[in-house]
Amino acid sequence: MSARVLVVDDISANVKLLEARLSAEYFDVVTASSGAQALEICQRAECDIVLLDVMMPDIDGFEVCRRLKSNPRTHFIPVVMVTALDSPADRVRGLDAGADDFLTKPVSDVVLIARVRSLTRLKMMTDELRMRAVTSHEIGAQAPERNAIADTGKGGRILLVDDRSASYERLAPVLASEHHVDVEPNPAEALFHAADGDYDLLIVSLGLENYDGLRLCSQARSLERTRSVPILAISDADNNARLLRGLEIGVNDYLLRPVDKNELLARARTQIRKRRYTDQLRDNVQNSIEMAITDALTGLHNRRYLESHVGTLAEQAASRGKPLALMILDIDHFKSINDNYGHDAGDDVLREFAVRIRKSIRGIDLAARYGGEEFVIVMPETDLHVAGIVAERLRQSIAREGFSIEKGARRIDVTISVGIATLDNKGEPVADVLKRADQALYRAKKDGRNRVVSAAA
Ligand code: GH3
Ligand code: MG
Ligand code: MG
Repeated sequence: MSARVLVVDDISANVKLLEARLSAEYFDVVTASSGAQALEICQRAECDIVLLDVMMPDIDGFEVCRRLKSNPRTHFIPVVMVTALDSPADRVRGLDAGADDFLTKPVSDVVLIARVRSLTRLKMMTDELRMRAVTSHEIGAQAPERNAIADTGKGGRILLVDDRSASYERLAPVLASEHHVDVEPNPAEALFHAADGDYDLLIVSLGLENYDGLRLCSQARSLERTRSVPILAISDADNNARLLRGLEIGVNDYLLRPVDKNELLARARTQIRKRRYTDQLRDNVQNSIEMAITDALTGLHNRRYLESHVGTLAEQAASRGKPLALMILDIDHFKSINDNYGHDAGDDVLREFAVRIRKSIRGIDLAARYGGEEFVIVMPETDLHVAGIVAERLRQSIAREGFSIEKGARRIDVTISVGIATLDNKGEPVADVLKRADQALYRAKKDGRNRVVSAAA
């Protein structure tokens, strides 16, 4: 899929020039001739990256960038400032406004295309994460975009890989003014160091004495533990080919020597802020996966998870010739707990019940909340006799000790009834086993509750 690039410049000749070069590389190009128009297009989420002129009559590029980056709806769109201004102070101003990069006019073709490629590749990755993450209000968390906007990018953990003492002795104190910095002067150790250190940013000198800095970058990209840590490369000037190679293998940003201190800090903050944002998105995705298979009240697996996994457990048992037991547990007269003490008390009982279930099963057993006050436990390598012992122990652990409700102000007695069945013959549908366990449970209820009944094998 080709990315859509928004080119913004008040001088139409400039727009046409960039448009032609990008189209030649099969990018999809949209254009705008003013800051206001650019903001509108971004609001409608109609582009993947913005190439932004700085000097424009209405709203200048710095302000457009600042507005894009401070709006949760447009925050994640990468912005590259394209400008004739080329002092480190201008670059810092742009980076502080939230720009992802800075290109100087006249823009070199290769640099332009390499930057657009690497930034849109990252953008597509975050888009994917944003799509898979549940919307934040569903999990009661603050939007990752809002956190990212509020994030200063300071207080990160940085590993600086540089074997020239004159260089790192100058750079490390600068970085240390805003972050925690470790220096690794031995490139051969750098990868291990990076993998162990939980860093937010790797800064790698490409001018190492006896080591190829790019090799290190590419190794960091392929190693699981460092794959998502951003890399900022520091290169000796005029080594364009190597820098482009770096961007291709996944270096996120670069600086040229002599390093301007403020620019170094601004670029480090930008990378750290992005890293925290994608980390949050990733956590969010992880949470939504867990939410999809977990019962929110008790933290046990939910019915959907049980139903999608019990079949596999049954097949495993059948093919290995091992038994498999299944029990259904139902709280006795649960409705009257709700009726007498309120729904919250009922919830307390369900939560505590789940805790006691967890305590009496093994790691390989699967416990799930099957319905309101009905639970299922699947026990691999367990026959009817042993399952009966486990169920009886669980029944007693419930009946023996009251359940605390109303924040510990009151204790009430709770009992459960349990039905057990086992997988009897190869290839038997699990639904049949579940049905027999349910019939056994029905008998336990009918015979007076607070008891365990096994289905006849
Ligand atoms: P029995 O001994 O025959 O199982 O009687 P029972 O009252 O336990 O069973 P019944 O199925 O009649 O009632 C179950 C009740 O569980 C009804 C429902 O309102 C309540 N319930 C279901 N889910 C929840 C929940 O998440 N929280 C609370 N507090 N109550 C729930
Ligand atoms: Mg019940
Ligand atoms: Mg019931």
